[in-house]
Amino acid sequence: MIDEKLLSILACPACDSRPPVRREGSGLVCTECGRIYPIRDGIPVMMVDEAILPGEESRRADTSDSRA
Ligand SMILES: [Zn+2]
Repeated sequence: MIDEKLLSILACPACDSRPPVRREGSGLVCTECGRIYPIRDGIPVMMVDEAILPGEESRRADTSDSRA
């Protein structure tokens, strides 16, 4: 579990305004760009390269079977 104090100091590295992130499911979602940062072993991975862009998750699932 992520503790609230840690969550409150985290900010999206992709946004210049360093907006806060909120807990959503198994990840942290930027309140501005909507990127989803994964939580691995209880540690938030606040890296742009690791973030999932909004809509990318479903797109990935759609194309996984048909990459011809
Ligand atoms: Zn952001």
